[in-house]
Amino acid sequence: MAKIVFIEDRCKSCKLCTTVCPKNILFMDSKKLNKRGFNPVAVSDMDKCTGCGFCVTICPDCAIEVEK
Ligand code: SF4
Ligand code: SF4
Repeated sequence: MAKIVFIEDRCKSCKLCTTVCPKNILFMDSKKLNKRGFNPVAVSDMDKCTGCGFCVTICPDCAIEVEK
């Protein structure tokens, strides 16, 4: 099963990843603040992640990685 991991402190809350996820499972976690002062990316339903890697590719700050 595909699984993504976040390097939360790299996220700048630009939301680009949310626009490319075909499963629409990425969101900015308003309950968290990272070291840069942003709400970091989070996943709502990891089981739905296909591991397509679109989010990894588009992230300008390399804040997402895919493990398979
Ligand atoms: S790997 Fe694909 S399905 Fe999984 S969160 Fe990223 S864009 Fe969405
Ligand atoms: S594309 Fe990268 S920096 Fe932008 S919100 Fe997503 S994880 Fe954060």
